[in-house]
Amino acid sequence: VEKMRIDKYLANMGVGSRSEIKRYIKNKRVMVNGVYITDNGLIINLDDDIIFDEEKISYRKFVYIMMNKPQGVISATEDKYQNTVLDLLDPSYLHFDLFPAGRLDKDTEGFLLLTNDGKLAHNMLSPKKHVEKKYYVEVIGHLVNEDIDAFSGNIIIDDGYECMPAKLEILDSNDISKAYVTIKEGKFHQIKRMFEAIGKEVTYLKRLTMGPLKLDENLELGEYRELTEQEMQMLN
Ligand code: URA
Repeated sequence: VEKMRIDKYLANMGVGSRSEIKRYIKNKRVMVNGVYITDNGLIINLDDDIIFDEEKISYRKFVYIMMNKPQGVISATEDKYQNTVLDLLDPSYLHFDLFPAGRLDKDTEGFLLLTNDGKLAHNMLSPKKHVEKKYYVEVIGHLVNEDIDAFSGNIIIDDGYECMPAKLEILDSNDISKAYVTIKEGKFHQIKRMFEAIGKEVTYLKRLTMGPLKLDENLELGEYRELTEQEMQMLN
């Protein structure tokens, strides 16, 4: 089993800063395998029984969060001027070094996956994996059957890139039309540019799914929760 200094372990699990933890240990608030310890440099095994103030502190390396991203925040980990999706998280998550697995535009809402699991993020995002992402979209003007055909072919966007076939499902064709779009790749502004290529302007965009995962309808804009066991299994 992997080993780690006890103060690092507790800091990684969000118990406190390294100096706070040193004090907690000196004050005999930390127990390892049933014994209060006083050495903050003690090397422990990751599967040791670690208790802080009577509470078991289990080790975990990876965190997976589903967020309903609101408009107005950017899908980045830091920015000098603008709020990022990390600013929406409880500070207790910050030491996990989470990042968004796949970006949404500042004005796009919906499903954003935040994790520190680089391998999983790669699997979700690699164009070779063809992970489907479904969006709800509103565009100016009527959508017609020819638009469905265009999406099911290879739409060529403004920079000459030929998109993979996508699925357009028209929900309402009107002055503002409503539809679902499912794509298997994730170029910069892809949905907006695909509609632009067929002469339509997107006025609202929300991601509903990523692969097997669906946005939890109980999450209000700006809210988030960790993935459930069941959802984790769907990713494996
Ligand atoms: N396509 C877009 O145009 N924007 C997004 O945020 C996601 C997909």
